[in-house]
Amino acid sequence: MKPTLIKGGRIVDPSQGIDRVADLLIEDGRVSGIDDRISGPDGVDVIDAIGLIVSPGFVDLHCHLREPGLEYKETVATGTKAAAKGGFTTVCAMPNTIPTMDSRATVDYVLQKARTEGAVRVLPIGCVTKGSLGKELAEMGELAEAGCIGFSDDGNPVADPNIMRQALSYGSALGLPIINHCETPELFRGGAMNEGWVSNRLGIKGVPNSAEETMVSRDISLAEMVGGRIHIAHISAAGAVEAVRLAKERDVLVTCEVTPHHLTLTDEAVMGNAGDGSVYGALTSAAYDTTAKVNPPLRATADRQAMISALADGVIDFVATDHAPHSSVEKLTTFEEAAFGISVLETALGSMMSLVHAGQLPLTTMIEKLTSAPASFLGRTDIGTLKPGANADVTIIDPDAEWTVDADAFLSRGKNSPLHGATLKGAVVTTLVGGETAYTV
Ligand SMILES: [Zn+2]
Repeated sequence: MKPTLIKGGRIVDPSQGIDRVADLLIEDGRVSGIDDRISGPDGVDVIDAIGLIVSPGFVDLHCHLREPGLEYKETVATGTKAAAKGGFTTVCAMPNTIPTMDSRATVDYVLQKARTEGAVRVLPIGCVTKGSLGKELAEMGELAEAGCIGFSDDGNPVADPNIMRQALSYGSALGLPIINHCETPELFRGGAMNEGWVSNRLGIKGVPNSAEETMVSRDISLAEMVGGRIHIAHISAAGAVEAVRLAKERDVLVTCEVTPHHLTLTDEAVMGNAGDGSVYGALTSAAYDTTAKVNPPLRATADRQAMISALADGVIDFVATDHAPHSSVEKLTTFEEAAFGISVLETALGSMMSLVHAGQLPLTTMIEKLTSAPASFLGRTDIGTLKPGANADVTIIDPDAEWTVDADAFLSRGKNSPLHGATLKGAVVTTLVGGETAYTV
């Protein structure tokens, strides 16, 4: 394998506290060194990164690759190509496939697909309960041995508190987190968007913040009791963030993630409006646009602001996409009937950089939350960093490139994006996985 030299870029690596213009040398698929000026060995491939940002490859703790069973929405091949285009070099695959990833056989199948067809690294997440049905724990030990990095019934909450108690206890023995989609079913039932003035105006049944907040509080209480690790998926409600803040002060083993859409959009997107303090200028979608239907729902402006502050001050641990591709059949229907979810991988960096350009988040914080923070959640020192010896997973960003989102041009099979037609500032130029080009413009 030929060595590669990335020359003259602004290297931002929060894992080492590096933010300076320098050269980066890659040999044998690993980072070999960073220095002011590296000449490189004979025959080195040179990438000119002047004016660009050189970051560790992004790590996404939460995406839906849909394979096996739902290949019409996405496959490991298309989902990981979309990930590479979005700057992600490692993605964690949620287990709500058909069959679900509640057995070693399905996990092995996904890992085999990833080895043969994947453009980036894939880490599987196993089910908490058999079939994600919430009734009986899955074989968590077997799933851990198969390589799962945690357990989740994402798409469904683990509604039964006693099942959650047992799961946290087993997870703790295995040293792995339980990742919960927190939403009390009785408060959610029939809801299609955030409960508030927008849902009232549109006549759509809303989901209150308390649907999330009550289950987050319950999970914190259970994790505190058994000493297990609870990770809150896609946090969206201000009160839930406050519950996590207080729990962290008591040293409960709780972490949480937020999506780019909950950081940049509000429930007004369901009316086709970008919302107060938008980082996008304007949206081209119209009222009742099902591309803005997502679970948890896009919340109010105060919630969005709370997510940004909590990400900056560390209460929210990292950014995850909750990439949820769907076919047009599932989205081109009434708002009530449409599937929940947004295709996020290819707009995530543009959304996050738009937030940086709007002065709402520092650049180094953004990169930390996409790289070293999720890597440290995984307990990994070979990804999310540009330390010598680490995997040469590198994302090169043009921070000032303005581009218009064309969902039809996504590499993902999911074209369901409320940002279709919006202008984002900041684009991925090149993504390297283990020193090999996984994507380049
Ligand atoms: Zn979820």
